Amino acid sequence: MSAHSLASISPPPSLFGLSRAALAARLADRGMPAYRADQIFGWVYQKHHRSADRMLNLPAPLRDGFHEVCSLALPEVVSLRSTSDQSTHKFALGLADHARVECVSMRAERRLTFCLSSQVGCALGCTFCATGLMGLTRNLSAGEIVAQVLVMGDFHAWRDARFNLVFMGMGEPLANFGPLVDAIHVLRDAKGLGLGARRITVSTSGVVPHIGRLADQGLPLGLAISLHATTDELRNRLVPINRRWPLAELLDAARAYGRHTGRRVTLEYTLLAGVNDGPEDAARLAAIARRLPSKINLIPYNPVPGMAWKRPTQEAIEAFAERLYPIAPAVTVRKTLGGEIWAACGQLGAASDASEA
Ligand code: SF4
Repeated sequence: MSAHSLASISPPPSLFGLSRAALAARLADRGMPAYRADQIFGWVYQKHHRSADRMLNLPAPLRDGFHEVCSLALPEVVSLRSTSDQSTHKFALGLADHARVECVSMRAERRLTFCLSSQVGCALGCTFCATGLMGLTRNLSAGEIVAQVLVMGDFHAWRDARFNLVFMGMGEPLANFGPLVDAIHVLRDAKGLGLGARRITVSTSGVVPHIGRLADQGLPLGLAISLHATTDELRNRLVPINRRWPLAELLDAARAYGRHTGRRVTLEYTLLAGVNDGPEDAARLAAIARRLPSKINLIPYNPVPGMAWKRPTQEAIEAFAERLYPIAPAVTVRKTLGGEIWAACGQLGAASDASEA
C-alpha cells in the first residue's frame, strides 16, 4: 500500500462504527486481504489494544498507514463520578464535535452492566426524565455507541468477560435505528467482543414501527418498554409519544416482539407518588402484563432537580409490589444504583457540570 493511495482517503471513519465486512472492504480497496480485518478486530476487541503500532501481525505499511484507513480514537472521558461504594460509575464523554454524552457502569450481585446512550439529548420529552428536558442535539453514530462500551470496558480493565448492555441511557434508541443496529452487529461479531444478543436489551418509550423492525433483525435481543402508565390519559401526560402510538398499539407490537423472538418483554414502570402508584394502577398493570410474555420492573422514581414528581415512600413501593406479586407473571423492584451521582434511571443529563467535582 503506497502512502499516496492512503492519503487520498479522508476523513477516515471510526473503526468502531465499521462492521468487519466494511473494514475488509476498505482494506480490499488498498489491496489487503479480508483476514487483515479479522486480525484487527482481534487486536481491538479481544486484546483491547488501542494503537496500530501494537498490532504486530499486520504488515508495516498497514500499521504505518492505519490512521488513514480508519480511526482508533475513543472519546475523552471529560468527567467521571463514582459512588462511594464504587459500584456505579458515570462517564461523561466528549465527542469530536464537543457534544457530551453520558454512560454508566453498574455492578450488582457481581454482574456488570453497561448503560449506553443512543442520542445526545432526546426529542421525546418524557415529563419525568432529565434527558427529556435537554431536547435533542443529535443522534450518535454507531462508532460513538460502540465506543461507550470500550471506554467502560477499558476502565474496568476487561476483568468481566461477560457483561450486559442496556440501551437505557440518554435518548430513544429506536429513534436512531440504523446506528443502533449497526452498533449491535459490531458488538456481536464473533471475531470481536462476541456479545450474545441475550445480553443486550433495547429500551423504548414506544416507537411502535421500529419495534417490528427490531424483531425483523432475527436476534433474541431483550426489549424493555417504558410503560409508566396503564391508561392513555395518564401516559399521554408522562410519555408524550403515546399520543402518536397509544397503549393498545404499543402492547400489540410488544406482544408480537415477544412471540417473534421468544423473549419476555420487560415492562418498565417508574413509580411516581400519588400519580401511578394506586391499587387500580396495580390491577391494570397486572392485567396488561398477563396479556403478553412479560415481566414487570418497578423503578422507584429518582428525583431530578426542578421536577415536581416525588418518589413514593418505601411502604408505598412495597405495597404496590405486594399487590402485583399474586396477579402478575413476574415482578422485580429495581434497586436504585447511582442516585448519589445523578446516574440513576431518568437522571442522565441532570446536575451535570454544576455539581461535578
Ligand atoms: S425517558 Fe427516554 S425517551 Fe423519554 S425523554 Fe428520557 S431519554 Fe427520552
